[in-house]
Amino acid sequence: MEVVLLGTGSPVPLLDRAGTSTMLNVDGERLLVDCGPRTVYRLLEHEVNPGAVEHLLFTHQHMDHNASFFHFAIAGWSVGGRDELTVYGPENTSRLLEALEHVYEEDIEYRQQVGYSGEGIDDIEFVCATPSFEVTIGDVRVSACPVEHSIETYAYRFDDTQTGASVVISADTKQVQRLADFATGADILIHEACIAPVDNSVSEEDVMWSEFAEPMNEGKRDRLAAVHASASEAGEIASSAGVETLVLNHLLPYRDIGTVRRQAESTFDGRVVVAEDGDTVTP
Ligand SMILES: [Zn+2]
Ligand SMILES: [Zn+2]
Repeated sequence: MEVVLLGTGSPVPLLDRAGTSTMLNVDGERLLVDCGPRTVYRLLEHEVNPGAVEHLLFTHQHMDHNASFFHFAIAGWSVGGRDELTVYGPENTSRLLEALEHVYEEDIEYRQQVGYSGEGIDDIEFVCATPSFEVTIGDVRVSACPVEHSIETYAYRFDDTQTGASVVISADTKQVQRLADFATGADILIHEACIAPVDNSVSEEDVMWSEFAEPMNEGKRDRLAAVHASASEAGEIASSAGVETLVLNHLLPYRDIGTVRRQAESTFDGRVVVAEDGDTVTP
């Protein structure tokens, strides 16, 4: 099993951190979790035809996790040659699929007139995530755990039934103890660390979003803490779950990466990776 962190950012646009998206490669099968801004280009950077990805799992329907969906769906099907796609996610994911049909009806029709078959676009399968969600994709058993965010959101666990390797993706969440139970014994926990200190050494000319270059006031921090976690909280979950490796993602602009790492290491003894776009992690 190999985990590729395609996008490790937040809703704030940055050139070096795309919106959230993670790819799992398991014995030739590619699973995509979330499809944030620039996901399609990130796949190309890893020499992956988006059409080669037939399973897309959404943790939740926030823009930074789904904005590339239409691009992924249509390009992967037409030029990408994909003739089968299954989309998994919370109930409101069906609205995204309906939007694809409605907004792009003529676009899709036109492409069919010029020769692309309807397979892979007219028949996208939707599997609704629930607390008891469990599916098997190839050799991988996938399960879901509801977490605490501003909308219905699921963490996913991937267990390779052939090798025993396992990966858990927290999704966007405040710290929740049940995630530690869900991630028990996993090799890798990918956990968000949206609450993190600002890097004071970033120079003014490198700052596009000045609001994020300054420490947050208490009110804003509290609002963020109601729906997101810090690196030390992620470390606590990783410790409690007994995972080998903690990968931190979903980072806001201009964060102090060294301190983020130390915060995680203050609560977790295992390997800590503060993710950059393009990082590959193996169990
Ligand atoms: Zn979110
Ligand atoms: Zn997010």
